[in-house]
Amino acid sequence: MNENRILLSEREMPTVWYNILPDLPRPLDPPLHPLTMEPVKPEDLAPVFPPSLIEQEVSPSRFIDIPGEVLDIYRLWRPTPLVRARRLEKALNTPARIYYKYEGVSPAGSHKPNTAVAQAYYNKKDGTKRLTTETGAGQWGSALAMACQFFGLECTVYMVRVSYEQKPYRRVLMETWGAKVYPSPSTRTKAGRDILEKDPSSLGSLGIAISEAIEDAVTTPHSKYSLGSVLNHVLLHQTIIGEEAKLQLEKIGEYPDIIVGCVGGGSNFGGILLPFMRDKLEGKKNFRGIAVEPVACSSLLRGRYEYDYGDVAKNTPLLKMHTLGHEFIPPAIHAGGLRYHGMAPIISLLYDAGLIEAQAYHQNAVFEAAVLFARTEGFVVAPETAHAVKAVVEEAKRCAETGEAKVILFNCSGHGFLDLGAYDQYLSGKLPDVNHEK
Ligand SMILES: *Cc1c(COP(=O)(O)O)cnc(C)c1O
Repeated sequence: MNENRILLSEREMPTVWYNILPDLPRPLDPPLHPLTMEPVKPEDLAPVFPPSLIEQEVSPSRFIDIPGEVLDIYRLWRPTPLVRARRLEKALNTPARIYYKYEGVSPAGSHKPNTAVAQAYYNKKDGTKRLTTETGAGQWGSALAMACQFFGLECTVYMVRVSYEQKPYRRVLMETWGAKVYPSPSTRTKAGRDILEKDPSSLGSLGIAISEAIEDAVTTPHSKYSLGSVLNHVLLHQTIIGEEAKLQLEKIGEYPDIIVGCVGGGSNFGGILLPFMRDKLEGKKNFRGIAVEPVACSSLLRGRYEYDYGDVAKNTPLLKMHTLGHEFIPPAIHAGGLRYHGMAPIISLLYDAGLIEAQAYHQNAVFEAAVLFARTEGFVVAPETAHAVKAVVEEAKRCAETGEAKVILFNCSGHGFLDLGAYDQYLSGKLPDVNHEK
């Protein structure tokens, strides 16, 4: 058992996604219509999403076949490696065995193409010609731009203005894959114009950009909207990560005692966690699931579990979720992908039911762990991913104190090559630690 990288061949790649909905300890509360406050009907969502994805959002089937065309694209970078972090273990002098699933090998550099490709496929199949979306730092926008290009769809991205101006490289990536990118708030939508009227120098937020992208989709023929996290079908598509990790750990006779992931909307954590959670819910296995948040935007630890809108303009259905409030604009931390006010309803329910726990860390502690990871394992991880690394380091240190040889699995959700400005700030001691302000 001394491999470093536990690999699956293309032929061993799972061909189904796991849908946790029928296995949850209680059913999810239904999304509510923003005007009537009645549970939304499938036809209410039809202007926004294609029929196939509306169906998946509430599917009662435990396993859903991954379409062949999606598998073909997954095979450009999947199965992804599972790596034993031996050099990190050694640096921490811990008896814990640390494994990470490396999603940074995708063309866009994160886990996000796992759902982008699936969403583009189902939209194409259902007759959509153009997708709109929002993006913060650009990880989601670039994943969707690539997926749309593969399926011959047009792609329009509303990018939070502060990132559009400060982080041009992901915009270039989106444009390279053929997308049109606009800084948000923009004058293209009523939602954007309303914000600009009140605050002409608005830096934007994910909530504002979502409002713009949805308005654009519902007012333009043959256009639909696409969301990169939070929703049930997004977590469903991401379960390819955990299904692969399970097979990889099985190969070497391991099972995790602790599963760690950073959480923005909850999709990469859900992706690695849910296939294992199936065993826990069946009473076959037990482990701790740890969702890691920034202190600056901590919707599980500091938010409330209640119905809330997904966007600032209150256009989206209300979801029962852990939320800091739809008007909350988080401080500008570098982990842009973790700056969302809400949390996936599935992750919120598991947290509320005591089946997973949450931890929150400040940026400087997070980057310290990421630099340790880079200096031991080599990979420079995304600032979002660095939150997971920090929690793993803490758990491994605890094992060093107690002498317990726990198996820790974490999702290494992406690389940090387009976030080197953040590393630069950290290394030169200029990174502020920002608190949650509400
Ligand atoms: C977007 C992103 C996240 C956060 O989103 P989730 O839906 O919570 O996974 C985490 N890591 C990376 C690298 C991202 O791009």
